[in-house]
Amino acid sequence: MSLLATSSWQAKIYVDGWTDGSGGTIAVTEPATGRNLGSVGAASVDDVLKASTAAARAQREWALRKPEERAAVLRRAGQLFEEYAEEIQGWIVRETGAIPPKGQLETHIAANECFEASALPGHPHGEVLTSNEDRWSFARRRPAGVVSVIAPFNFPLILSIRSVAPAIALGNSVLLKPDPRTAVSGGVVLMRIFEEAGLPAGVLQLLPGGADVGVAVCEAPEVRVIAFTGSTPAGRKVGESAARNLKRAHLELGGNNALIVLPGADLEKAVSAGAFGSFMHQGQICMTTGRHLVHESMYDEYVRLLSEKAEGLPVGDPASGQVALGPIIDEKQWDRIDGLVKQSVEAGATVSAGGGGEALFYRPTVLSGIDHTNPGWTEEIFGPVAPVMKFSTIDEAVELANSSEYGLSVGILGDVGEAMKIADRINSGKIHINEQTVSDEANSPFGGVGASGTGSRVGGATANIEAYTETQWLTMRPEIAIYPF
Ligand code: NAD
Repeated sequence: MSLLATSSWQAKIYVDGWTDGSGGTIAVTEPATGRNLGSVGAASVDDVLKASTAAARAQREWALRKPEERAAVLRRAGQLFEEYAEEIQGWIVRETGAIPPKGQLETHIAANECFEASALPGHPHGEVLTSNEDRWSFARRRPAGVVSVIAPFNFPLILSIRSVAPAIALGNSVLLKPDPRTAVSGGVVLMRIFEEAGLPAGVLQLLPGGADVGVAVCEAPEVRVIAFTGSTPAGRKVGESAARNLKRAHLELGGNNALIVLPGADLEKAVSAGAFGSFMHQGQICMTTGRHLVHESMYDEYVRLLSEKAEGLPVGDPASGQVALGPIIDEKQWDRIDGLVKQSVEAGATVSAGGGGEALFYRPTVLSGIDHTNPGWTEEIFGPVAPVMKFSTIDEAVELANSSEYGLSVGILGDVGEAMKIADRINSGKIHINEQTVSDEANSPFGGVGASGTGSRVGGATANIEAYTETQWLTMRPEIAIYPF
């Protein structure tokens, strides 16, 4: 059995069914080899407007379906993610340049997102209120309407499904705009799964394209809520557009996440955690460990062991199953990473491991001797680069961790009592004690503060119901009320 072997989706977009996009087609390229993997359709602004009108029509019917019918579609979608996991992982490996365990993580979480979302239709949808009048009074949750989901290239499946599944489960329809570089893993896969799961045509529409299509799915008149995951500059534009058009935008943006290594922490385990946090998926994760803050008593050994580990990690074609790091998504990103490493060195940092690479591969890199004004420290690098700085007092570590404009994830390694006290002083959407900074679960609220976004709007029933419904106040009297005139 195959999910994607059918040619129905090749070179197509989905507007009430697979169809040609007026924007032409987008080639799907394997970053590790430069090989062509096929093509998807490219949507135009016109296609977006048509899809949005059709989605609004489909949504009215979908919202009236019994909760158990909506739940069944989500459960089936979760099962299909499990049944087709291996085939989907193959695409994630080739299209996103991921090592196979990252592909497995994406399909596992995708299934969980659907199973979690399948509980939402049956979840209580409001409150019984008190009233000073002689009446019953309720606050009830209603679907928001049409939701636009815009996803980035790095974890395309998870970052699409984590919004698509709860939005659909709660009776909305969705315009999905994946990143053009990963439109199969972040778009076609979801569309095919929901087709097979029996979702009525029109409830999910697939509109691959670039920033112009992203702008269009924000501006389309029927769209009420936008779930955007991507960079902070693009997120600001989405937020501006949403405010102008009086729509709600959930913005999950960049990060520059600190890992604090306390005095007395197990050095070997800390180095392993730090390496994973910085090098997993080539550092192309919003939660990547971008700043290692290590107590001065351990700093030299930490830098030495982390550099040793970095030098030992194999880099190459992830489809071989023999490497720890695959390629960077494209040349533009590679140049940005290398540019930031060079700027860091000009500003005084030392390359203790890695630096540079061949083709789209970038060697895991350690920057030491860095100070808090260095661009390698202040900027989100979004590549396999581990900047390490020492601290002497806990107050200094807290101040440095909080000094970033971002606030997505912080890891603290070492004594739990000390870590708990630090956690109470840290501004961050999430904090992991005795773990590195990368972690995500379908049932937990996820999101950042500051330049990382508008707070935890995804994950778990509370956040998802808040994100994808509107509250309606409803009152009832046994007879028509009496008025003074
Ligand atoms: P990007 O912002 O360039 O692109 C993300 C998506 O937004 C793409 O689909 C793109 O086509 C679209 N887009 C771009 N400009 C747009 C606009 N003006 N209006 C609407 N849509 C627009 O992001 P990127 O550089 O490809 O991805 C990496 C960034 O994403 C990093 O900053 C990373 O930290 C962030 N990210 C955040 C999270 C999170 O959950 N907080 C998760 C993953 C990635």
